[in-house]
Amino acid sequence: MSILLSGRWPQAEQQQCLHWLQTALPGEQWWLAPPTDAAQAAQVEVAIVANPEPGVLQGLQNLRLIQSLWAGVDRLLQDPTVPPEVPLARMVDPAMNEAMVHTALWSVLSLHRGFFDLQAQQQQGLWQAPAQLRADEWRVLVLGLGELGGRVAQALSAQGYRVSAWSRRPAVLNGVQCLHGEAGLNQGLAQAQTVINLLPLTEQTRDFFNAARLASMRPGASLVNLARGAQVVEEDLLAALDSGHLHRAVLDVFRQEPLPAGHAFWQHPRVTVLPHCAAQTDMRSAAAVVRANVLALRAGQPLAHLVQRQQGY
Ligand code: NAP
Repeated sequence: MSILLSGRWPQAEQQQCLHWLQTALPGEQWWLAPPTDAAQAAQVEVAIVANPEPGVLQGLQNLRLIQSLWAGVDRLLQDPTVPPEVPLARMVDPAMNEAMVHTALWSVLSLHRGFFDLQAQQQQGLWQAPAQLRADEWRVLVLGLGELGGRVAQALSAQGYRVSAWSRRPAVLNGVQCLHGEAGLNQGLAQAQTVINLLPLTEQTRDFFNAARLASMRPGASLVNLARGAQVVEEDLLAALDSGHLHRAVLDVFRQEPLPAGHAFWQHPRVTVLPHCAAQTDMRSAAAVVRANVLALRAGQPLAHLVQRQQGY
């Protein structure tokens, strides 16, 4: 049996990834493109993918596991050629979780203490100290209470912020006000000074931040989008910023990536653009996660982090 490794990435990154996977799973036969020979294609048992080209998994008749190296599997689920009967596992990588906590803490701290505004003041040679609020005077809403949202909510709470979090199902988390349903969402949006989006991209969350939803955010609040670009209607966000209803947006993800040259976000004085780097898979730890799932598959044990295809995440 063999393993296919497929992704849309620079060759150096692919080689690095292969190195860590081969170290974790020695003695395997690896393919970096689907074998064209039918007998060899029939030998592919596992596909390890990072945002692969559509159609790559077609015709692998004995495929038993699709292991994503990305946490978000929205693009895989949109590809009709991905075999629906093969278990699909997403990446839950401890190093990625830690990186997301760092990005969220930096965003909230910078917004709470006005550090983005102070950076702009420096460009103008302006010496003016802002009001100093305590962390417990700053309310954050985390959308999504999963692997990433849950950790982010707890880390913010540990720093003294007043944290609410919204999920699909009711949840309980120490130190966090847990909300669900439309009423919970509206309550959370109306009170939060910073809203962090960590929802998966599904049919329910596409275009989530449209004009109406942005209007229901607390006046002067800021949006931090660390999940997927298609969850934000970009013109509506620009309008909410330009009208003064929202203070700032910190955006790691965009409808089109890389963000096209000339896009209004690049030069907007109250938009911070990050190049989809909030939390990347770290193959040094992710390879162990892949190994555990491959070994579980072969031992007939339950697989970890399986995607519930009907719910879209
Ligand atoms: P996860 O563990 O699957 O958690 C998803 C959370 O969202 C769950 O709490 C779920 O609620 C909630 N949710 C889903 N649909 C909802 C809905 N319609 N209404 C309310 N809540 C809903 O996902 P994760 O690992 O935390 O990752 C979240 C997303 O982050 C990924 O899908 C990916 O797009 C993004 N991401 C971005 C980067 C980056 O670098 N920018 C890196 C990694 C991941 P329940 O708990 O009730 O199921």
